Amino acid sequence: MNIIFIGPPGVGKGTQSLLISKTIKIPIISSSKILKENINTLSTMQNVSKEINDGKLINDNIVTKLIFSQIEKKFCKPGFILDGFPRTIIQAKELKKFKKIDIIFYLFAKKNVLIDRLIGRRIHVPSGRVFNVNSFAIGEKQLDPLTKEPLSIRKDDSKKIVKKRLEIYNSLTKPLIEFYRTESIRGTCKLYEINASKTIEHVKTELLHHLNLNS
Ligand code: AMP
Repeated sequence: MNIIFIGPPGVGKGTQSLLISKTIKIPIISSSKILKENINTLSTMQNVSKEINDGKLINDNIVTKLIFSQIEKKFCKPGFILDGFPRTIIQAKELKKFKKIDIIFYLFAKKNVLIDRLIGRRIHVPSGRVFNVNSFAIGEKQLDPLTKEPLSIRKDDSKKIVKKRLEIYNSLTKPLIEFYRTESIRGTCKLYEINASKTIEHVKTELLHHLNLNS
């Protein structure tokens, strides 16, 4: 089964794709992770690292090539979850030509919820574990609970860049929902629209229900 997660930054695509991947045992292809892993090779073409930190989208051609080269690998044979791709109509049309997608989960939440989540996001870089400042008690040291190592803030999670990322999402990525609504009506895939303001557990249960699985 091939699944896509679409939604604004901060809506929980990364968190939910990880939970679903563990449950149904198919790999996640995260576009931002792959971009960051390839930064040294890519930087000859575009200053990818700066563009990411500035909240801008990377060239469609570059991202599409990287993602497709992953999908073609053996580990994706049983299916895959795309997190962060496609993000533009051009990317979605290229993907349509390249691979059949079975399910699209569109996660949505109000702007203030997204801003609070992104600005409060703290990351344990070595493991990728994600936390929020609100999950720590007042006065408690904000450390990774398992390793007691310090947590980091993503450069693009500053208030200014978050606002820009949301604007870019609204102008370039949100039109994909209409694209997939049409595809879903045609019967080429199934689009599920999910309110992701609720708790992580609640959203996960809803996703599993659409996958005909119980949590
Ligand atoms: P994310 O972690 O999904 O919020 O992505 C972080 C950044 O990676 C984005 O702000 C973009 O700069 C870049 N990026 C990730 N996925 C894509 C994509 N599909 N197309 C273009 N740029 C992307």
